[in-house]
Amino acid sequence: MNVLVVAPHGDDEVLGCGGVMHQLAASHAVYVLYMCYGDEGRRGTQVAQQAEMTNACNILKATGWAGLAFPDQRLDTLAISDMANAVANYCEQIGGVSSVFIPSFASLNTDHRLTYEAALVALRRRKCNVYAYHTPQPGGMEWAGLRPNACLVVDISDSFSPKTAAMQCYKSEVENFPGLRSTEAMRSEASVIGLQFGLAPALCESFEVVRRYGF
Ligand SMILES: [Zn+2]
Repeated sequence: MNVLVVAPHGDDEVLGCGGVMHQLAASHAVYVLYMCYGDEGRRGTQVAQQAEMTNACNILKATGWAGLAFPDQRLDTLAISDMANAVANYCEQIGGVSSVFIPSFASLNTDHRLTYEAALVALRRRKCNVYAYHTPQPGGMEWAGLRPNACLVVDISDSFSPKTAAMQCYKSEVENFPGLRSTEAMRSEASVIGLQFGLAPALCESFEVVRRYGF
């Protein structure tokens, strides 16, 4: 059973579902498809980003990854159909998918919203479960109503260390506390999710269930 994580940028897969990736990798083939990389801006060269993605995927025990090298923070310059076709092609390439994790639409980041839309177009005729993960947004956006309607919770306590180790691979994105991409903030967020679902002191990730077939 193949699991696919569609990530707009390198680090979104870790922040949004790194714990679940590590858990699922024990019994499933987990693949990551990165939508954007390749410019030489804040995130460094394409070669440097490829190394970061490889290292993060290795720590999370992913089976493989691919990058579409679409322009970072510029997905709105592309046609949705081109992005959707690229996602669909990767699903074919890896031999099909049973579950797919995509970014939540509840984000101000255009790359995230368009990745959500493109993935839904790509997956609409495929019988696979679809879940949306949430990544922390600078300044928060929950106060503006941009909050995920997450109803699926997973205890990732045993996979939290690999998750933070994978995050350390993304040198340009890691922050010191109180930055949202610091280990301390990641632990706080995972703790709060555990509290919200009555699982404290477990560290958790939560997901929107976009579509699910059976049990
Ligand atoms: Zn992102």
